Amino acid sequence: MKACVFTLGCKMNEVESASLMRGLEERGWEVTDTPCPADLYLLNTCAVTAEAERKSRQAVSRLKKYNPAAPVIVCGCASEHAAAAFAEREGVTLVSGTMRKDKLLDLLGILHETETAFCELPAPKRNKTRAFLRVQDGCNRFCSYCLIPYLRGRSRSRSAEKVLEEARACGAKEIVLTGIDLSSYRDGEIDLGDLLLLLKDLPARVRIGSLEAGIVTEDFLEKAKDARNFAPHFHLSLQSGSTKVLKAMNRKYTREEYLEACERIYRRFPDAAITTDIIAGFPTETEEDFGESLSAIGEAGFARVHAFPFSMREGTAAAKLPDLSAEVKKERTARLITEGRRAEKAYLSRFCGREAVVLFEADGGYTENYIRAYADGAHEGELWRVRLGAAKKDGAIAELLEELS
Ligand code: SF4
Repeated sequence: MKACVFTLGCKMNEVESASLMRGLEERGWEVTDTPCPADLYLLNTCAVTAEAERKSRQAVSRLKKYNPAAPVIVCGCASEHAAAAFAEREGVTLVSGTMRKDKLLDLLGILHETETAFCELPAPKRNKTRAFLRVQDGCNRFCSYCLIPYLRGRSRSRSAEKVLEEARACGAKEIVLTGIDLSSYRDGEIDLGDLLLLLKDLPARVRIGSLEAGIVTEDFLEKAKDARNFAPHFHLSLQSGSTKVLKAMNRKYTREEYLEACERIYRRFPDAAITTDIIAGFPTETEEDFGESLSAIGEAGFARVHAFPFSMREGTAAAKLPDLSAEVKKERTARLITEGRRAEKAYLSRFCGREAVVLFEADGGYTENYIRAYADGAHEGELWRVRLGAAKKDGAIAELLEELS
């Protein structure tokens, strides 16, 4: 792992950077002070003049050009004086200012020492209805509001062989592939789409957890389609409908790219459920930006929306931005929930009177496309062909037609 420590400004900065470089070397990093392709950039900034601050901000883009995927951590005077101007820049992972540079070193140490191999655990105790299978851990995306990459380390995937082994052994009727960033699953040449193909002959349907919009390519969807036991439910985190806010969140797609991903899904899977998460009141979100999140709900045709207010996490890049008031966040969350319920109802109504296959759990069950169904007379673990009817609670009443298992 290579770190590039780039310094602007005075002798004091140079001395502190030299100390940080030494600390990094002691923690096992290969270190350079010359901009080059690296796994991590530490930018020590200067605020002695407005021009020095401008050059400090420009240095972020300069470093990112060498490796757009690598985190950029900004410290020093300019980041203390104008933290928001750095936190808003795409690719900035952390803005630490001038204080506690010793803590910064500890944090960088954690980044390096983090596990690179997938941690195998014993298979959990589970019932035979629905089994959650860990296939990936960690995350390299560094969304500006999220602490997870610091807490769980870099992305690593479980071997496809082990996944297949546990999937066969668990004997569940539905398997849910889970991970922190499932979209980055990779075992050698095997990506998430290939993993679905490897699981396609299991006597179970296979569902996947949360995905990033970038994975929704024609290639991935073709593989998902070929995997005949794949349940067409895509939890595709949106987070914001505004391209400007998405950029500040360090998300790697625009509003348009996200909506195009939804269209690609519907072309292959016309009945697919697309569910999502949306954050209300990210620090840079204006009322106009928020309106774009609201309108995206209808445009994407979501089957379910999980809306929640922005929550400041100390240590993230977004924590340096001015927080919106609790009232604004609460009010926007409520509007997202209302719009989400409207979309959910519209989605459900399309299936009223239609047949579906439901795997029942203790209280109701789910269709392949994640519609919750309630029926008298069905028991946990039973698979039924049903006819969906009127709305009930968070789903629909199901008339039992034929037991399939
Ligand atoms: S929000 Fe998800 S994708 Fe973004 S950094 Fe956190 S875990 Fe990774």
